[in-house]
Amino acid sequence: MPAMFITLAKNLKSTPRPVADDPRWARIVARDKSADGEFWYSVATTGVYCRPSCPSRRANPKNVQLHDTLDKAQATGFRPCRRCNPDGPSLEAGNAAMVADACRRIERSEEEPSLVELAAAAGRSPGYFHRVFRAVTGLTPKDYAAAHRAARIRQGLEDGASVTAAIYDAGFNSSGRFYEKSTSMLGMTPTRYRAGGAYEEIRFAVGESSLGAILVASSQKGVASILLGDDPDTLVRDLQDRFPKARLIGGDRDYEALVARVVGFVEVPALGLDLPLDLRGTAFQQRVWQALQDIPVGSTVSYAEIAERIGAPKATRAIAAACAANTLAVAIPCHRVIRKDGALSGYAWGAERKRALLDREAAPRELGSVKAPDIAAYRSSRA
Ligand SMILES: [Zn+2]
Repeated sequence: MPAMFITLAKNLKSTPRPVADDPRWARIVARDKSADGEFWYSVATTGVYCRPSCPSRRANPKNVQLHDTLDKAQATGFRPCRRCNPDGPSLEAGNAAMVADACRRIERSEEEPSLVELAAAAGRSPGYFHRVFRAVTGLTPKDYAAAHRAARIRQGLEDGASVTAAIYDAGFNSSGRFYEKSTSMLGMTPTRYRAGGAYEEIRFAVGESSLGAILVASSQKGVASILLGDDPDTLVRDLQDRFPKARLIGGDRDYEALVARVVGFVEVPALGLDLPLDLRGTAFQQRVWQALQDIPVGSTVSYAEIAERIGAPKATRAIAAACAANTLAVAIPCHRVIRKDGALSGYAWGAERKRALLDREAAPRELGSVKAPDIAAYRSSRA
């Protein structure tokens, strides 16, 4: 081959095409999680490199360079982004597989496996295993086992067994212990659940988060409520008040998985919540809520700024009312709206929770660093 041709071919190959025209750019714009591990990108203006799904504010493609491998991204000399932890693309996937494996092990066992047994099977220390399990599922292994038993009880109830027989079949040796926990597992008492087989419209379940109890409810259209509070029963009554004509049904196991995703999102808002939302409000409220969703994680705006953004500069009070009417805590981030003078102002789910959410968004945590929630400590810190 003539030397000149080789030179030409080399030049053709190395001619950079604008990043904005590269199909990989669209995946960065979409924060496509499935692209993680396939390529990385670096941003000259900020000096960091990221994985494609990074939740940070989008860079100008003119300042972006794409890298086929992690090595090449690292070779830029830039630092790894703290938001998306680009050096650990396989960690999340590996943890998810480990946790899925442990879940199957719990489901297969007659006797609930101990934490030490589960950790040994995963080849991890009990402390690490417990933390990762909690971060991935939103539940402790013990709670997961309890939820699994509750699912078996529900199955028993649906098959027509008596409440007592269903409880004993599922391995609870004292019905008193079951009743203690039943509200948070079934979303309502067993007898009511049994009578409520016809309820169909709103599914819900109550879980625990580091911010206390969390109720998640969905219609056919999507997640319709995320409520935070100290007491699960109060949240369920609150849900009934907010949807007075709806038939409420306790969530099944699939639904508990969705609740776990919402809990994970509440713990680490930067993860994003890729679930459809069912927004119920007036056209004005919907405009406000849309504007709230456009406030990036980690920043705050004033009521007056929201009023400007939706083209209703005099409507500050109505904006505050629309924030108060929000039924989707964190997903519609009304906690990111503060007073012009910087004061926190109110929050439907308590000023302490608003402060806690803003604090954690200001200092984002990686998923792996999320500790199991210590609700007792949270409560005493509020006392
Ligand atoms: Zn990043």
